Amino acid sequence: MRYISTRGKAPAQTFEQVLLTGLAPDGGLYVPEQLPSFSKEEMEQMASLSYPELAHKIITPFIDGAINDADLKEIIDRSYASFANKAVAPLHMLGANEWVLELYCGPTLAFKDFALQLLGNLLDYVLKRNNQKVVILGATSGDTGSAALEGCRHSDNVDIFILHPYQRVSEVQRRQMTTVLGDNVHNIAVKGNFDDCQRIVKAAFGDQSFLPEGRQLAAVNSINWARIMAQIVYYFYASVQLGGPHRPVSFSVPTGNFGDIYAGYLAMQMGLPVRQLIVATNSNDILHRFINRNEYGLSELKHTLSPSMDIMVSSNFERYLFDLFGRDGQALAQFMTSSTDGTHSVTPERWEQARKVFASASVNDDVTCEVIKQVYEETEFLIDPHTAVGVKAARECNTDKSVPMITLATAHPVKFADAVTRAGLDTPALPEHLRDLFEREEQYAIVENSKEAVTDFVKSHL
Ligand SMILES: *Cc1c(COP(=O)(O)O)cnc(C)c1O
Repeated sequence: MRYISTRGKAPAQTFEQVLLTGLAPDGGLYVPEQLPSFSKEEMEQMASLSYPELAHKIITPFIDGAINDADLKEIIDRSYASFANKAVAPLHMLGANEWVLELYCGPTLAFKDFALQLLGNLLDYVLKRNNQKVVILGATSGDTGSAALEGCRHSDNVDIFILHPYQRVSEVQRRQMTTVLGDNVHNIAVKGNFDDCQRIVKAAFGDQSFLPEGRQLAAVNSINWARIMAQIVYYFYASVQLGGPHRPVSFSVPTGNFGDIYAGYLAMQMGLPVRQLIVATNSNDILHRFINRNEYGLSELKHTLSPSMDIMVSSNFERYLFDLFGRDGQALAQFMTSSTDGTHSVTPERWEQARKVFASASVNDDVTCEVIKQVYEETEFLIDPHTAVGVKAARECNTDKSVPMITLATAHPVKFADAVTRAGLDTPALPEHLRDLFEREEQYAIVENSKEAVTDFVKSHL
């Protein structure tokens, strides 16, 4: 299987190549040239597979022989062995035909572990085989950083540097990153905001001349294709537990960067019967404005109680737009590079096509807290604010109560205690493996808000 750029001007790449890079040289994102698909019979058989077995089945065509089968199996088994629940992604019932898919049983308590445990192990395997070392540089507003550090800490062939905005992540989130200690692990607190961190990372990827000979940067954010690939699996897993493929299901997905829900869209394209795919956003609603009003344009960044969805631009949306534009990279490039200050729109035909696939809702902080409280009162089940955005959107957009509605629960509520407190509920306890988080030794550097300050730091710590 080959991977092509959404902007149509970069050469096609192999799986191994896209694993080790970030953006394509033409500024696009890599997508598979063709998607595999699964027949009804194959999907029927999926119902009896364990999570790692199913992951192996779904991921194999994307890897396309780049890793031999026995090794791939072992990599996948190891990636999900660290999850606290044997089901890996358990379904929890909230009400009649209403479910949440708990995606926070991994080591850092957010769904990003699904992709980053696997990505870390895939990188380690390929780099060892090539006798190659890479430098991972990433920016985080919280969850990506800790998941990436957990995923990559054991790899001798990786030096990982994670930027977070100084004093702007929660204490649990900071400690989950800064207590990961190792010679190859570096946390950098940048004296700026998350956008500054992202800008610095982007600039460093654009000019890698600060790195020693033979080293290159690798990406752990969701522009990395392998992350999307890993996330396709749990859509199939949830569906077949609830009667798929003979019975369609619907998904509500809390999203900012469009990474998680794009994986759901791909599952549909691969044959999974999905009735509704709901884009659940907080007040940073660029995706909702597009789906609801055909308006695509920036608005000011708002800091919300669901900070992992606080974005202005949804980078993975480009992957979907590529399909919407009939895979015409040039037309898409024009759309993406035309002014983003003013809003722009797609043709009414294209917009209608998008609305056939996606519904959407935007949920503010007050409503988020009400939903946390309401769900707790109804079921004694505590959800985090990202999940609450999803549950609300699911209830608002549901058009057919006879179809199981599954909200992806993207984080453990302990990570976002502020919202839980504001909802008038008690903060939950940290899970067993993190009980002593507040006593652990922390290590991080505080660095000026400039590309040079960061690249100098990286250079001197390799
Ligand atoms: C990253 C994250 C999201 C949003 O993921 P997308 O890649 O934007 O779809 C939602 N919830 C939590 C808890 C996250 O960490």
